[in-house]
Amino acid sequence: MFEAEDTIVAIATSSAGAARGIVRLSGPDVVDLVGPLFSATGGVTISGVTEPSNLDGKLQFSNLPDPPITLPCELLLWPGSRSYTRQPAIELHTLGSPPLLEMLVDTLCRRGARLAEPGEFTLRAFLAGRIDLSQAEAVLGVIDANDDVQLNTALAQLAGGIAQPMEQLRSDLLQLLAELEAGLDFVDEDIEFITTDEIACRLVQVQQQLHELEQQMANRAERGSKLQVVLVGPPNVGKSSLFNVLLGRFGSNSAHQSGALLPAIVAPQRGTTRDYLTGTLKLGNLSCQLVDTAGVEIASNVPASEAEEMTQAAQACAAEQRQRATLQLICFDSDSPLPQKLPLPGRELLVFTKADLDPQRQLQGVISVSSVTGCGIDTLAEAIRKQLIDDVNSPAEVVASTAVRCGDSLRLARAAIQRAHELATAQGGDELIAAETRNALQELGKIVGAVYTDDILDRVFSSFCIGK
Ligand code: GDP
Repeated sequence: MFEAEDTIVAIATSSAGAARGIVRLSGPDVVDLVGPLFSATGGVTISGVTEPSNLDGKLQFSNLPDPPITLPCELLLWPGSRSYTRQPAIELHTLGSPPLLEMLVDTLCRRGARLAEPGEFTLRAFLAGRIDLSQAEAVLGVIDANDDVQLNTALAQLAGGIAQPMEQLRSDLLQLLAELEAGLDFVDEDIEFITTDEIACRLVQVQQQLHELEQQMANRAERGSKLQVVLVGPPNVGKSSLFNVLLGRFGSNSAHQSGALLPAIVAPQRGTTRDYLTGTLKLGNLSCQLVDTAGVEIASNVPASEAEEMTQAAQACAAEQRQRATLQLICFDSDSPLPQKLPLPGRELLVFTKADLDPQRQLQGVISVSSVTGCGIDTLAEAIRKQLIDDVNSPAEVVASTAVRCGDSLRLARAAIQRAHELATAQGGDELIAAETRNALQELGKIVGAVYTDDILDRVFSSFCIGK
């Protein structure tokens, strides 16, 4: 699959039929294949075109023994290497009738083109160095995006995204490797280019950065394409009421159908939310999952030991939900203490609940809401939306498939750096440290595709649709 010498063709538009359909070709023979079928208005022949051009005209082709078909067509031609694939490429924009487009592709295949494999145009762009592997995945992310957030994430990744922090890390490690290897060349002369302390110190920094990226990727892979907003706070603070009010006002219909289930149980006794509940919020063009974390409902006849076990299970469940959260809503009311830790930017919002009971209380950096009167609910929804948008616009945010693929490489790179660090602190020899550094570089190279195997390319490109 991984060769780019022949000319490939595919329908690039939806198979459902539309006013306009596109047939795309890439490869050395595009002009020879299409030229005889296309007559441009004004008589230009495409073999004489040397710059990327846009030509109107007519396309005439036939699948013998059928009579020839003539279609109006706009032809986009990249005769040299300034195309997406960096090969000569043509797009034929014509009527979007699927049987007609299939007949056209069939004609081109009989003239010598080959039907493209899924993702093969993007694969060629990657092989030609036009985009890196994470950007190729971003192309898929753009195609598959269901909402603005997914689209923004994919577009950011397409524009560089993960590639930038990755390049920085790779260049730091390459620099370190160069210094280590320079030292090895002069080992007999007793010239030291870099001290062991310095090596250890730089390795610790790299390890830290890798750890952060790994964490980010793990969270990203786990949450898939969903952003999670989790309600957190002591029992009875009003979380379930807030969950119901937010979903009542901003819940998407699909969430209720797909069973975000029943409204959360609201009760005056402490600890009445039995499990965690989820529902989909639609905030403008952004959708996220709202989660009401676990509490416990323990009947009075439950023995104390069992009650304790249930409490612990509920707390573990809540902790797990918090771990997955893109954003936590830390709830407190006038009976509960003001949360001590100030929120980290982007990860938490402080929410003062039951504001109707204490309307005078205005706290800096805190959003006051009442589930009874509805005051502050719109402000809270807007704050959630803003935080989530900021979160997904962070430079290292990636599409879910990249996160899954990169997880292993990051873990292996960090393990190699850890071994290098242990060697450095145990005076284990620069040669071995250099070898481990090279291992780490090899793994990081896989993320952007500087190092790739057929297996990696297969995994990335097989999930594309044909024509992309
Ligand atoms: P949770 O345990 O944190 O989920 O809290 P609940 O949502 O079950 O609410 C606990 C109690 O506080 C219930 O009696 C609610 O009716 C009451 N409550 C919740 N929100 C408000 C509010 O905004 N104003 C007032 N006055 N009472 C509220």
